[in-house]
Amino acid sequence: MQEQSKLIQEAAKKLLEEKKVDLVVGFAQGSLPLRSTPYFARTTAEADNLIWDEYCENNLANYLRKREEKVAVVAKGCDVRAIVALIKENQINRDNLYIIGVPCQGMIDRKKAKKQVGGKEILAAEISGEEVVLKGKGFETKGAKAELLYDTCQRCAYGNPVIYDQLIGEELSAKEVSFAEVEEFAAKSAAERSAILAAEMEKCIRCYACRNACPMCYCQECFVDCSTPQWISKRANSAKDNLIFQGVRVFHQMGRCADCGACERACPMGIKLSLLTRKGVKDVKDMFNYEAGLNPEDKPVLNDFTTEDPQAFLMKE
Ligand code: SF4
Ligand code: SF4
Ligand code: SF4
Repeated sequence: MQEQSKLIQEAAKKLLEEKKVDLVVGFAQGSLPLRSTPYFARTTAEADNLIWDEYCENNLANYLRKREEKVAVVAKGCDVRAIVALIKENQINRDNLYIIGVPCQGMIDRKKAKKQVGGKEILAAEISGEEVVLKGKGFETKGAKAELLYDTCQRCAYGNPVIYDQLIGEELSAKEVSFAEVEEFAAKSAAERSAILAAEMEKCIRCYACRNACPMCYCQECFVDCSTPQWISKRANSAKDNLIFQGVRVFHQMGRCADCGACERACPMGIKLSLLTRKGVKDVKDMFNYEAGLNPEDKPVLNDFTTEDPQAFLMKE
């Protein structure tokens, strides 16, 4: 990872020096263990702060919409999927964007790491090959990196950026995308599914971190913020209203969701949002053989049609 950080710094400095871009969006060291933070480098000195490690979890596509200046972005597979989807929606001008792509093997889930050390405070973490060493006052625990990755990353098949101007690191071998947890959830009875979703939605504090972390959520006024009409209550004390919020959010993502997991990672209450978002991703894949942000050339699936589409109710002989 140190080598990748160095290569990213060099690439960023060259782009800034040659005035090919005005800004490089990437990651810098966070102020807490197991954290990296989005970082904006406008000078070559600032480019020295750019890093790449197992904590670069934010989807940086979120910082690229409607920018006027020329921007470079350090982007992993799921960031680039969102970028491609946003280019198609005219939110990002590809001509003004330089993509420093980084093949990604997954990001470490702080909650899983904390669980592994019995909830104790982690003061340092070191990656050694496929192991993570977690250190704190009076303890040092080793764990398998693969087991500490976010669930989204464990099932991710698209760590390789699908488009880039420069690639830092070797492309990863192909994997099959898995929807096992969506299938397991779908196999439950309607009553069981309803009970699980109700319990999840009870936990929601309506902080909107999920919405704000999502690169594809960019309406100027979200329906939940409207006062006239007021679609749902402003408070989080109704699990039904919370489910309406998530239901509408997921419908807005149909055929657009980059399956990056940023919404679930951002949720402070640990709500399994992927049960909903990935159901949408799976349905669109099953019905239209389409996964958002994978092909820069095709049209967004719900902006297009073929007479083969399985929507007979729309057509009359
Ligand atoms: S979802 Fe895939 S590309 Fe995104 S952080 Fe996880 S492994 Fe990397
Ligand atoms: S981030 Fe979690 S708690 Fe906050 S609004 Fe979204 S689902 Fe609710
Ligand atoms: S809905 Fe969630 S998983 Fe989908 S693009 Fe937005 S943040 Fe990523």
